Amino acid sequence: MHEMAMAQGVMEIVESYAKKSNATKVRTIALLIGEMTGVVFESLEFCFKATAKGTIAENAEMKLKSIPLIGHCNDCGNESHIENYNFFCPQCGSAKVDIISGRELRVEYLEVD
Ligand SMILES: [Zn+2]
Repeated sequence: MHEMAMAQGVMEIVESYAKKSNATKVRTIALLIGEMTGVVFESLEFCFKATAKGTIAENAEMKLKSIPLIGHCNDCGNESHIENYNFFCPQCGSAKVDIISGRELRVEYLEVD
């Protein structure tokens, strides 16, 4: 499952961070999740809880923030939110649209004890 693999990826980041800072407990995990990743927040939280059971992140609170999918048109310079995965520029119809945000999945910050 998509979210399960992501939960494990997050867990790896959390554990290596906790080790580096000699943490005994992870309190908060804040994640930035791009719209295009298609991650269902509830599902990721559920999977993470299962993954974190018995670890220092067991009772950590998750703060998930969605990053909108934004495209930049190389022909007219227009930047806009991409709706319904329509990657053509809404202003000039060009197909030369680069995604500038919305694909990321990263840890924004961690709070540990
Ligand atoms: Zn354009």
